[in-house]
Amino acid sequence: MKVDLIGQKFGRLTVVEKLDSRASNRSGKMRYWRCECECGSGITLEFPTGRLTSGNVKSCGCYQKEHLAKLNDKTRIDITCGQKFGLLTTIEKVPGKHKRSGKRWLCECECGNRITVSPAELFHGRIKSCGCYRKKYSKQIFDQCHKKNFVEGTYPAGIINKNKPSNNKTGVRGVSIRITSRGVKRFYANIVFKGKSYHLGIFDTLEEAAEARAKAESEYFEKFLERYYKEHPDKN
Ligand SMILES: [Zn+2]
Ligand SMILES: [Zn+2]
Repeated sequence: MKVDLIGQKFGRLTVVEKLDSRASNRSGKMRYWRCECECGSGITLEFPTGRLTSGNVKSCGCYQKEHLAKLNDKTRIDITCGQKFGLLTTIEKVPGKHKRSGKRWLCECECGNRITVSPAELFHGRIKSCGCYRKKYSKQIFDQCHKKNFVEGTYPAGIINKNKPSNNKTGVRGVSIRITSRGVKRFYANIVFKGKSYHLGIFDTLEEAAEARAKAESEYFEKFLERYYKEHPDKN
């Protein structure tokens, strides 16, 4: 079948001249066409039939360039002197450490420290202080935890003293007696971990309930204490 593409448009390209067939290692010989782009760039454009009809090429390259420029425009970061980002205020643009890396902003933190930050880090809020904020914040949390001896909703001291007699009627921590509507005595086991109460089951005997409680204790608490002592060796 003879194809004539002359005069046809493919995106911004118009086919203006039929050229000779050229050898191609994939499918033998291919017909080539000379095209002109509507942007008037005057770049020599010669494409085989397949690339045109498949929509593989649509311009001299101007389309991609425009598309990229648009994308860059959207993500362009405009930062000016004296702008505030968290605790940081921009002072001036300074060259990066390496030739290749872009410019950075010299910023002054509210604490008085000065650091340089990349525009993207500022713009996207990845860096909001010289590091003092995080330090101060985590110290506050740490102090609070230790004041109350309270970590992640669980009292480590309470876990450690688990052999202390419980003040409930069963004498077993986490096991309580319930009388059902039919007047039957049952044993409820539960465990409170990280501020959440977990129901462990209803049992006919105190022994069964105590066993369930002990099993849960080792499951929940031992793992927790292991980590707790790793993070707070002074408390061990
Ligand atoms: Zn073009
Ligand atoms: Zn600071």
